[in-house]
Amino acid sequence: MGIGYEPLFRHVLLPFYDQTLAGRGTLSFLAEYERSQWLPPEQLEALRWTKLKRLLEHCWREVPYYRRQWTALGITPEAIRTPADFARLPVLTKHDIRTHFDSLKADSLRDSLLYKSTSGSTGEPFRFGYTRESNDRRAAVMWRSYGWAGSRPGRRTLYLWAVPSGLKPLQALKQRLYNRAYNRLMLDSFAMREDTMAEYADAIDAWRPEIVVGYVGPLVRLSQWLLASGRRIHRPAAVLGAAESLHDFQREIVEQAFGAPAFNTYGCREFMLIASECERREGLHVSADHLYVEIGAPLPSAADRAAGEIIVTDLSNFGMPFIRYTTGDLATPADAPCSCGRSLPLLAKVQGRKLDAIRTIDGRYLPGEYFPFIFNDVKWIKRFRIVQRRLEAIELQLVVDGEADAARLDAARALVTRALGDGIQIDIRVVDDIPVAANGKFRVTISELSDPPVP
Ligand SMILES: [Zn+2]
Repeated sequence: MGIGYEPLFRHVLLPFYDQTLAGRGTLSFLAEYERSQWLPPEQLEALRWTKLKRLLEHCWREVPYYRRQWTALGITPEAIRTPADFARLPVLTKHDIRTHFDSLKADSLRDSLLYKSTSGSTGEPFRFGYTRESNDRRAAVMWRSYGWAGSRPGRRTLYLWAVPSGLKPLQALKQRLYNRAYNRLMLDSFAMREDTMAEYADAIDAWRPEIVVGYVGPLVRLSQWLLASGRRIHRPAAVLGAAESLHDFQREIVEQAFGAPAFNTYGCREFMLIASECERREGLHVSADHLYVEIGAPLPSAADRAAGEIIVTDLSNFGMPFIRYTTGDLATPADAPCSCGRSLPLLAKVQGRKLDAIRTIDGRYLPGEYFPFIFNDVKWIKRFRIVQRRLEAIELQLVVDGEADAARLDAARALVTRALGDGIQIDIRVVDDIPVAANGKFRVTISELSDPPVP
């Protein structure tokens, strides 16, 4: 028996990649986070607070935007002594970052920043800077959290992902070698169509992954296809939903199709992973030793009265610090700690975009999560999306199986009317496909109403 690939990878290859090819300190940060997840709650809180204070003092010295803002408010970092004091600082929005891009950079780090951009939920591009260290720490936090689901560097993994296209040959070769080294296969979730689904199933059978990681939208889609077509595939040990929250109705579908437990994670491009389920799956652990996460006051748009907006402060990005950044996502804190013994705080669930709520003429807000239930028993609707541009009208986009005749469309219209009330105009559009957004998130509902205000 030779040495298995996984130990070889972890002990020989990864340190090599880590320190030479990629130049990353990920492994040492991973060791640090593996330890801090087990700290007693008071010690974890003290660590989080120490990191936060250090960041605030840095912002005061080095970041013109915060210095200006806090001076105008008569606040100094020394005056912030409790979480309640901190919660009184203004939030930071995407709009603030676009407007004050340069003055949000730290003086001493502004020339060494890395940059990333996102398409944003409205399609308007959004760019931000971060340091190499914060990038490595993000990767370490991701490995820790994925590890709770049994995923480890070097373990045979299949990614259902947005595969970068248009790479130059050398870049593409590097990417292939990198994936080979990490023992992973990337399948492009963007090329996923009804007529290519069988190829995805074939690829999974050929690769025989132990772990499957995918954007939730494409994962659910593939799962639905597997179940509908009766196709059985190779069983992984675990499936991880990425980019957006895996709702209960989706988890059931994925677990049935893959015959393996599915794990919920929550993250966004601005911070990478924010919270994840551990092996007990009692809620999502917030990586509080890396991010300072607040759950804001409950919003009127939330169906769940305890749900508030997720506000994140990145404790390790000193280059372009995000202090109290509003993510636009809603979460509900858990009532009790997780039975696993980790003191990382627990979210009961992440509901997703707050703008996904659809408003009714009589003043109600229906969360996006509600809509899949409306069409639960309508088998000919393969996928749908509701877009609200005006209060009095919605557009219902449908991808259908077979013929969308008048009787079927009337039935669909009646279901939506029952939920939203009479008087709302419903325009039905039958479409060939409803693509996922470039960030991998599939949004069942989109509200373009300006009220509640977009942060
Ligand atoms: Zn746990």
